Amino acid sequence: MQLSLYSKHTKIVATIGPASCEPGVLRAMIRAGMNVARINFSHGDHQTHGRTIDHIRRIAAEEGAVVAVLCDIQGPKIRIGALQEEPLMLENSDRITLTVDDCIGAQGLISLPHPEFVRDITAGTTLLLDDGNLQFLVTETDGKNLRCEVVVGGALKSRKGVSAPNARLTLSAITKKDRADIKFALSKDCDYIAMSFVRSAKDIHELKDLMQEAGAQVSVIAKIEMGEALENIEAIIAVCDGIMVARGDLGIETPAEEVPFHQKRIIKLCNDAAKPVITATQMLESMTENPRPTRAEASDVYNAILDGTDAIMLSAESASGKYPVRAVEVMSEIASIAEKNLPYQGDGLQPAPVRRQPSGEPREEMSDAISKATSDISEVIKPKAIVTTTMSGYTTRRVAKERPRTPILCMTPSATTQRRMALVWGVTALQIPEFTTIDEMIRNIIRAAHGKGLVVEGDRLVIIAGVPFGVDGQTNLIKIHIVGEAGEI
Ligand code: PEP
Repeated sequence: MQLSLYSKHTKIVATIGPASCEPGVLRAMIRAGMNVARINFSHGDHQTHGRTIDHIRRIAAEEGAVVAVLCDIQGPKIRIGALQEEPLMLENSDRITLTVDDCIGAQGLISLPHPEFVRDITAGTTLLLDDGNLQFLVTETDGKNLRCEVVVGGALKSRKGVSAPNARLTLSAITKKDRADIKFALSKDCDYIAMSFVRSAKDIHELKDLMQEAGAQVSVIAKIEMGEALENIEAIIAVCDGIMVARGDLGIETPAEEVPFHQKRIIKLCNDAAKPVITATQMLESMTENPRPTRAEASDVYNAILDGTDAIMLSAESASGKYPVRAVEVMSEIASIAEKNLPYQGDGLQPAPVRRQPSGEPREEMSDAISKATSDISEVIKPKAIVTTTMSGYTTRRVAKERPRTPILCMTPSATTQRRMALVWGVTALQIPEFTTIDEMIRNIIRAAHGKGLVVEGDRLVIIAGVPFGVDGQTNLIKIHIVGEAGEI
């Protein structure tokens, strides 16, 4: 695959499943524009996931592409137990008991094998089952049995999800299964871990502590899908490395009608904090069955890009749908069209950021000043690329925050950072050898970019870096460079 400075700014996350885990399909998805492969630990086993991750790494290397692996951990998803008859038909006003005891469910009694969840539920709580298709009202509880009235009946099947949107839940954000899955994901050197059902910054700290004990420091994506997370959103953004607007569960835990409002607000907050944000779920849902999206789906993808999302995500469309490759192609096509109409820095059309006053954090202010200046300089001198040198990706994220029209070329000695940048808006990342002086830095940058055919002699570049090198989060140098002027090629 020929690397280019601009293919599309918006990144595509595709969930890998039975429809897409074979090498031929993965290769076609990478060629179509998949930047991040999402492994969903709510389904499948370690052996299958391990094989898929190995395929992705091998094929990406063969294609000369950078693809990050995001492991999405199930979290405390609450489900009913098995049912005797499938489906169990429930009528409005039926009476039913949900019990922590193990039993095969039938009319009147269904197992809900989650004692910590049941303990937190009080009389008067509304329970939503099967993505909100059925609704129960808890009328009585003894801490182990929830006596309920069916408010909205329907057909209930085994192991369907249960949520209690208004309850304050105390259950741990990391289950026993999650611990085993996290250990496995770390052993496969994954690039991102997505944490489900995050409620507060404390949950993120718990995961980071767990990883630190295992000697790992993988970037954490907080999935925003609970009302409580919306209340704590700013604190969560501050401590995580990225956000997923998980619209599926968010539309159950909060009214679906409010999801667009939350999506726009979360994206703005993430843009302002320079943290990558993924807009997820049902983006091209009808493409699980059809080769073309609906007009509403095309608009949804386009509008998420105009909202400022870094990445757009495919779920069932690529995991189990009939057209996984076509779905990636459609996303790429919509992104290319939307990006022609994006308000870039310098257009004077940039939507007002949520927080523009100085953060008070000196390193952040310095980086933001340099990034903004870089973006402005680029509008004047129209360079081939803005080149960021970075160890952790911090400098690159802060430049991407400015949404410059000029492509961003991230140069890093770290293979991990190179892969993490696959999620960040507008960034192409290359790995370069470590350097100690500015001259060596420029030589390494030009050789890498020239070697990949990204620049030719005479091209202008705006290079930004932090000096001394290797100190995290310190951006303090801008250099306008003409390729070849120092005899580097
Ligand atoms: C969601 O709920 O939108 C989501 C992405 O999470 P999951 O697919 O794990 O339910």
